[in-house]
Amino acid sequence: MSLVEVRNLHKRFGTLEVLRGVDLTVEPGEVVVFVGPSGCGKSTLLRCLCGLEMPTEGEVVVGGVPVRDEAKALQALHRRVGMVFQRFHLFPHLSALDNVTLAPRKVLGMPDAEAEALGRRMLEMVHLGEKAGAWPEQLSGGQQQRVAIARALAMKPEVMLFDEPTSALDPELVGEVLEVMRELAREGMTMCVVTHEMGFAEDVAHRVLFMDGGKVVEEGAPQQVLREPKQPRTREFLSRLL
Ligand code: ADP
Ligand code: MG
Repeated sequence: MSLVEVRNLHKRFGTLEVLRGVDLTVEPGEVVVFVGPSGCGKSTLLRCLCGLEMPTEGEVVVGGVPVRDEAKALQALHRRVGMVFQRFHLFPHLSALDNVTLAPRKVLGMPDAEAEALGRRMLEMVHLGEKAGAWPEQLSGGQQQRVAIARALAMKPEVMLFDEPTSALDPELVGEVLEVMRELAREGMTMCVVTHEMGFAEDVAHRVLFMDGGKVVEEGAPQQVLREPKQPRTREFLSRLL
């Protein structure tokens, strides 16, 4: 069984049909990159994978468990799926370390000393070991985003979702975040990434999916989709990125 299975996923907001029948499977250790024009449903798809949105129709299964609109099931899902957003959403009144240890302590009931050791390890992983005591406002955008990644990793997720994690960053800070994501991929983390960073997609993704109008229009190896797209819509989108 695949780690993530999406079958015939439809999502409507009122009369607006944002996802129009998405099928997707993600295998353990796989890095899947989603590209496509603004408004095509990429964020909505990721939000369905972590239970922030419920399918209108169709099914989302993570680790063999169907995503259901039920508090216990959602709590369990949130432990298994890590999400990193464009805006980092750190708690401004908590230090970097406390941002990372909050969920392990509150959600998993981890003792303080154990959570602190875990938090420090996670901050080391994103190369911010020395910033444990810093407040978010004392950190650059790139550092804040790396804390957000550490915070998600602290829950030991089975899959990590990244929704345009570098889009809000100054250009000189993009590289440090992509590097951390590269390292995660190298360590075998299963990842679904929405990004416009085509260099990252080409180097790191096992598979690239091009979405348009709420559907997956084309998918394949990065070199194929990004260099030799078959679909006219993919070609048009990529030509506009250059
Ligand atoms: P993308 O991430 O590809 O830019 P989104 O998934 O964010 O696209 O949005 C797809 C469409 O769904 C957009 O037209 C957006 O305005 C709409 N949309 C997203 N979330 C909601 C919501 N909660 N309520 C109403 N419309 C929404
Ligand atoms: Mg989006």
